[in-house]
Amino acid sequence: MKKLAESRSKAYILSPEASRALAARRPDPEADENHRVATALTADKPHLASPKARQFGHVETWIFDLDNTLYSHEALIWPQVDARITAYVADMFGIDGMSARALQKYFYHQHGTTLKALMDIYAIDPHAFLDFAHDIDHSLLAPNPSLGDAIGRLPGRRLILTNGSRRHAENVARELGVLDHFEDVFDIVAADYIPKPDRRAYDMFFEKHGVDPAKAAMFEDIAKNLEAPHAAGMTTALVVPATIDPYRDAFEQEAVAAPHVDYVTRDLADFLDSVVGPGPSRG
Ligand SMILES: [Mg+2]
Repeated sequence: MKKLAESRSKAYILSPEASRALAARRPDPEADENHRVATALTADKPHLASPKARQFGHVETWIFDLDNTLYSHEALIWPQVDARITAYVADMFGIDGMSARALQKYFYHQHGTTLKALMDIYAIDPHAFLDFAHDIDHSLLAPNPSLGDAIGRLPGRRLILTNGSRRHAENVARELGVLDHFEDVFDIVAADYIPKPDRRAYDMFFEKHGVDPAKAAMFEDIAKNLEAPHAAGMTTALVVPATIDPYRDAFEQEAVAAPHVDYVTRDLADFLDSVVGPGPSRG
């Protein structure tokens, strides 16, 4: 167990050679373009705009995903949730951890979330599941004053839109020191357990919070979760990690060159600074 914990704490930097090797293995014709975007992002140039990127000047509502967007995977928050979900599945079906892990990933790919699968097929109590999955140590998150400063200066409303629970979102945002900058959290319960990227989740969010998507921007770490927002008229930004987490699917971490991705950034706080201008304490 100790060995696993140690290996999980190591993030793997994708070298240019490894990037090229990965790109060469992909049959997807878009892979080269994605690869170009991924390798164009550097420490000196952490943001990219697509040729037809929408702007931010008209934006009145700023919408943020939570996990792996407001904080990096290196904070080891999501792996805890992931492991709790595996434990839940193992306990529910009376199977070992490895089998549970495989079943969990099958549910995720087939139903969008493990919770959705367990509700649809086995009619489990979603509240008990969410309480169990998010009963983790949030103190591993360090306060992020740069991010709080940047979010606090965004002109207009700011909301969190997550496939997790409200309590988890509030715990994360509180540890980061950004909670007070947000008007509200729209969680998976509010979405009637329909997860992003399902268009219905966004429509319920727009309706509940009176958001005009043509005057809104969305920040998210999973590219496919930006398709519906962009189609609805939002300006979109994909937040990609500076290092690769070997325990998550590659598609969740890729820089993606696609019409529904206006911007790609490796540094959310710095990107927001570039949108509203740096604060008085920095730059
Ligand atoms: Mg996320």
